[in-house]
Amino acid sequence: MSAGFIYPEFEVVRNENRCVSCRVCEQQCSNGVHSYDAGRGIMISDETRCVDCQRCVSLCPTRALKIVKSDCVFRENANWSDETIREVYKQASSGGILLSSMGNPQTFPVYWDKILINASQVTNPPIDPLREPMETQGFLGKKPDKVRRDEKGDLVCELSPQISLSMPVMFSAMSYGSISYNAHAALARAAAELGILYNTGEGGLHEDFYRYGENTIVQVASGRFGVHEDYLKAGVAIEIKMGQGAKPGIGGHLPGAKIVGDVSRTRMIPEGSDAISPAPHHDIYSIEDLRQLVYSLKEATEYRKPIIVKVAAVHNIAAIVSGIARSGADIIAIDGFRGGTGAAPTRIRDNVGIPIELALAAVDQRLRDEGIRNNVSLVAGGSIRSASDVIKAAALGADACYIATAALLALGCHLCRTCQTGKCNWGIATQRQDLVDRLDPDEGSRRLVNLMTAWRHEIMELMGGMGINSIEALRGNRLMLRGIGLNDTELRILGIAHAGE
Ligand code: SF4
Ligand code: SF4
Repeated sequence: MSAGFIYPEFEVVRNENRCVSCRVCEQQCSNGVHSYDAGRGIMISDETRCVDCQRCVSLCPTRALKIVKSDCVFRENANWSDETIREVYKQASSGGILLSSMGNPQTFPVYWDKILINASQVTNPPIDPLREPMETQGFLGKKPDKVRRDEKGDLVCELSPQISLSMPVMFSAMSYGSISYNAHAALARAAAELGILYNTGEGGLHEDFYRYGENTIVQVASGRFGVHEDYLKAGVAIEIKMGQGAKPGIGGHLPGAKIVGDVSRTRMIPEGSDAISPAPHHDIYSIEDLRQLVYSLKEATEYRKPIIVKVAAVHNIAAIVSGIARSGADIIAIDGFRGGTGAAPTRIRDNVGIPIELALAAVDQRLRDEGIRNNVSLVAGGSIRSASDVIKAAALGADACYIATAALLALGCHLCRTCQTGKCNWGIATQRQDLVDRLDPDEGSRRLVNLMTAWRHEIMELMGGMGINSIEALRGNRLMLRGIGLNDTELRILGIAHAGE
């Protein structure tokens, strides 16, 4: 055994009594784990290549397969975990930075799971969402501080452009290139059917998806890939991406191998060239610079589109957002450190940024204290996993939430966290046509609509239980929340009392 030998992380367990050597697993695995040994007349496995994506397990017609986490671990101790030892060996053999995908998997607190929701009992009774009207619709954009009337007493309406959402959830930015054409098609169709929005990410907008413009947010990131006048005018809002929760402080990198065909055309860069978004926007070094871009985009779209500025949740996020709220932005999206990505340096993903719950509460409070809360709407993202997370985010001050990992799960993602390889067996994070074809956009869209429909019902039930009949009335209502097992500092930042108080 060489010094760098790493025992496979997963074991392929094949029940020989059930296996009929149909070779489905071999056809389905893009990592080349399974093969047929003609000499012995049996299927064999190269476990070193397995990433536990569960594709072969799901499609094996005789249920002969199981993938299990290997219990063969390095000699761990409290300081050196198996994972840490593996990483050192990997780097000692490759000399490269570690790359991974999806969100931060480390054992930091998940504050959503330490917050409990109120329910009405005797006075202010609950509302039955099946019998009473319950409003989940909301609007994002700058709101006036007060209502004005002219000398005749008629309302003077000077509302900035608004986005209308049937429920307070949107699909977060995922670029065409990082995810497949079929994944984009499913997201766009589902958003249109649901009356919500999806987001192009920084990859431009494929011409086939212009027809979903009413349900599209177009993104402008530091690489400015695929940005042109028609693109800016195609959606209902424009998002400037300053940062991303999965990798705060660094840019993006889509390897040249994924820049093929339509992806290259949509991004407006040559086939095979790496798409590198720099860490900073090279024209933004201050709030004044950001303001210039915000107003350039408004000017280019005749002041008809709200401008979203997206930032990663980092230290001092409240002060940062307070500055952005003065830049002319209409909506600010804050992305917590558990937010997913197609590829990120592992050290950054796992160590940089802060939880969305703390960031959101601190930002909402700061904007209220400064009297500028109505200047912007807030969108929270970075591991919103369920309807109850949405409700808690709303009560902490979010006008809406972004989801991405949950949407990918609905499309069939099995969270194997190897999107960066481009070999996603589920046809999501890949540009290989044979893999892309595995994802049926109609079926994907149906599953996304189902997921959101279920969440909407749950949101209405949770609100009804609290005696609240509109999502607008819940926004920032922290009296509806209690912390459990949190210390005083955490409770202070979240602005909530402890359970029992
Ligand atoms: S990588 Fe996926 S398809 Fe291949 S053997 Fe492992 S679980 Fe099965
Ligand atoms: S998108 Fe595909 S590659 Fe990425 S985590 Fe999900 S299943 Fe794995």
